[in-house]
Amino acid sequence: MGAPESFTATTEVGHYINGRSVASTSGRRQAVYNPATGAVARQVALGSVDEVNAAAAAAQAAFPAWADTPPIRRARVLNNFLALLNEHKDTLAAMITAEHGKVFTDAQGEVSRGIDIVEFACGVPQLLKGDFTDQVSTGIDNWTLRQPLGVVAGITPFNFPCMVPMWMFPVAIACGNSFILKPSERDPSASLFIADLLQQAGLPDGVFNVVQGDKVVVDALLAHPNVKALSFVGSTPIAQYIYETGAHHGKRVQALGGAKNHMVVMPDADLDQAVDALIGAAYGSAGERCMAISVAVLVGDVGDKIVPKLAERARALKINNGMELDAEMGPVVTREALQRIEGYIGIGIEEGATLVVDGRGHKVPGHESGFFTGGTLLDHVTPAMRVYREEIFGPVLSCVRAKDLGEAVKLVNEHEYGNGVACYTRDGNVAREFARRIQVGMVGINVPIPVPMAWHGFGGWKRSLFGDMHAYGEEGVRFYTKQKSIMQRWPESTAKGAEFVMPTAK
Ligand code: NAD
Repeated sequence: MGAPESFTATTEVGHYINGRSVASTSGRRQAVYNPATGAVARQVALGSVDEVNAAAAAAQAAFPAWADTPPIRRARVLNNFLALLNEHKDTLAAMITAEHGKVFTDAQGEVSRGIDIVEFACGVPQLLKGDFTDQVSTGIDNWTLRQPLGVVAGITPFNFPCMVPMWMFPVAIACGNSFILKPSERDPSASLFIADLLQQAGLPDGVFNVVQGDKVVVDALLAHPNVKALSFVGSTPIAQYIYETGAHHGKRVQALGGAKNHMVVMPDADLDQAVDALIGAAYGSAGERCMAISVAVLVGDVGDKIVPKLAERARALKINNGMELDAEMGPVVTREALQRIEGYIGIGIEEGATLVVDGRGHKVPGHESGFFTGGTLLDHVTPAMRVYREEIFGPVLSCVRAKDLGEAVKLVNEHEYGNGVACYTRDGNVAREFARRIQVGMVGINVPIPVPMAWHGFGGWKRSLFGDMHAYGEEGVRFYTKQKSIMQRWPESTAKGAEFVMPTAK
């Protein structure tokens, strides 16, 4: 798998099944764009039921030997993978920028956050240690252990083509499962590069497979009897569909959905810090992060003080091709995304929001056909407006005014999403109360994007997550394993006769 420069507009990004690259058999393909130029960069194969069947068969065949491989040897393969990832980090980052559009340094950060999970997964022997109770009854011991599920699948979004798959497969594989990845069709190349590195690391064929595609592939995975569990990350309507359909087919499902993350700025906050935080968290990665801040809740007199500063900074954003070293914000992923985002700005104006900075129609010299929009700032947004209620997933920051902490907390708690939230304050009691009362899965106190570290697990509340367990961390280990309880007695050879009452401790 070469670097992006070696691709042409007709290069096909195909599947990876049983340790081999597999070209499209369905004949269906879709263009993959370079968002900075707006040009078609390559074609992605859109898989069919046949490719899902082939991947599921390969993964099923590879599973028994991989599950039987001692955890420490599985961890050694991941350690090799870790070394390769570190070696090729920048190639992977450039590949992400070329298809997603995010700036190169941000793509490097994405790869690093993926590497964190691989490092965590290398500790799997410790994580899989069971519990043991000696002598639960006379002569009887009881212990629990966790065993892998079998074939598991991951369906991932466009906005983190490396990190989000790495929330899933390192943990799943370390636990002894085999894995089928269905990447986003908008930026599919990273998945094949990862597959190649895993093979170089010594992962047996069939343990990691990639089937490119769209709903056809997803539906085939949802219904396939070999697939025991599905991890999904993407928008809320699809997350709900995956959760319900997967459950209908008897599968274990974790489905992480969309977001509308608020940042509450209290009157006692360091306002310069809050401005820095809002600008980075709202416009970084062109707002295409599930943990991006899209709503600023400005408490008391903060609004009048902070909006002019935000406006100045939003107008000054350096917007360029993400490979340019001075770029702070790149393009959005597709022309459709650009139209959707700019359409929402129009809706916000019609609904009565104040347009403080208008990013629409932004052009980058030399990249006139790129999918660029500027940073947009809307003020006096209210909870009744669509721009407040719906996920825009672009560089649009909506400012809402609240009279006090209670009103700010109520706003956040009444929103249908509950992925991330932040509070900027210098008051420890406010911070503590906020963290306790807020109905959101990931909370930042003076931290705008509180993405938990690898061993803590990632997940939102409300309609930002369908399922019981968060991604990665110990919850990830639990998701990808099932508990078995073993009770054992080695009696002396004198038989005592059958027992007909419920066993109790003797
Ligand atoms: P998406 O929901 O459009 O696509 C996600 C995946 O689902 C892709 O692999 C896609 O091919 C597949 N898919 C799309 N439509 C489908 C359908 N009708 N049936 C079956 N499968 C389908 O999401 P996206 O645009 O790629 O990513 C952006 C979204 O992901 C945003 O809503 C963002 O908030 C969310 N996201 C959430 C998290 C989180 O942790 N909660 C993380 C990253 C992204």
